[in-house]
Amino acid sequence: MKKLLIVGVVAMGAVAAQAGVYGDVPDAKHAWAVHDRNRPNPVKVTANPGQVPSDAKLLFDGTVDSFTRNWQHKKTDRKADWQVVDGAMQSVKGAGYIQTKDAFGDCQLHIEWASPSKVEGLGQGRGNSGVFLMGSYEIQVLDSYETDPSKDPNPNPNYADGQASAVYAENPPLVNASRKPGEWQTYDIVFHQPIWKDGKMVWPGSVTVFHNGVLTQDHWEMEGLTTHCNRRPLAPHATRLPLEFQDHGNPVRFRNVWIREIPSRYANTTHGGPAAKEEDVMALRRKTADQLFKKIDTSKMDAPTLAALMEVVSYAKEGVWKDEFLKHAFAYRDWVKTLDAKAQDARRGEITDLKRICNKLQKGGVLPPNCTLAAALGDICTKKGWKVR
Ligand code: MG
Repeated sequence: MKKLLIVGVVAMGAVAAQAGVYGDVPDAKHAWAVHDRNRPNPVKVTANPGQVPSDAKLLFDGTVDSFTRNWQHKKTDRKADWQVVDGAMQSVKGAGYIQTKDAFGDCQLHIEWASPSKVEGLGQGRGNSGVFLMGSYEIQVLDSYETDPSKDPNPNPNYADGQASAVYAENPPLVNASRKPGEWQTYDIVFHQPIWKDGKMVWPGSVTVFHNGVLTQDHWEMEGLTTHCNRRPLAPHATRLPLEFQDHGNPVRFRNVWIREIPSRYANTTHGGPAAKEEDVMALRRKTADQLFKKIDTSKMDAPTLAALMEVVSYAKEGVWKDEFLKHAFAYRDWVKTLDAKAQDARRGEITDLKRICNKLQKGGVLPPNCTLAAALGDICTKKGWKVR
């Protein structure tokens, strides 16, 4: 290989600017490197204070039209006789449960609700309604304001797993964040449904609830389907089902209901997590390698091209990607050994950067421990006392 074929770059960082090998490289469970610049960025969502996020589905905006468009009786042949009053939809005794016309699975859900300002009844009879995720898992809605165990007697005694923001019949809220009867309250819920495979449960799902901004359910893994008195085990169901609100005989109001569907961790098979599949990871790594390789002019025998090829093989070191990398790596190795001390100094940034990339590739098993390119670069750095990041 003739010396002149290699055109090194002098400026510190010039190689790094062109190569994406920055953090630990992809592995069997991760298609992307740490801090991978090729990894797609998240889509933009507008989320101004107090406003519905731009990608949310607004399920109730305070109008009759919004109610009739999005809600129906749970028994779909019956009319949904809840009322829309002063911008709120209100449960009517005997009208029955209502459900969304659309079905949802894993979601972020925002709800504002208010129990009646006229306090009637005790315990489960006071301002009771409920948010039934997928029609199967109830987050309790209840006037729990006066339920206070520090007082003797407790002015509104109730069972703990039935209080406001309880996972009903399973888990009490961590604290009682209830506001006064009649005041608007918020639930912000993150829900993941149970995962089943071949009739066997892989994961029970989870629910997280913020009640008036206070964490009351912390990633609670469901134990069963909502029940009363008897424990009822989890069971497979459709992966999308309507959201339901309960009629428990009390005029509870709801407003500003919006939902965002969110991905399951089990839908992710390419970047870590419990469902990472090596074949999916490798397919994405090959796709990225291919995309990057197509942008490289391999006729250029210079350091940026070598760095770019090192990035390619960090995803997949095979076929033409491997062949071109090796060709450039051996050429650079042989050429860099010929540099005199002054020429080495002039290329300090380039040499240390390539050594840094070699280190990452060796750490990730892409290059062997006895890689001769890494050794040649390492010899210079050691002799010069140059630090390699
Ligand atoms: Mg209820």
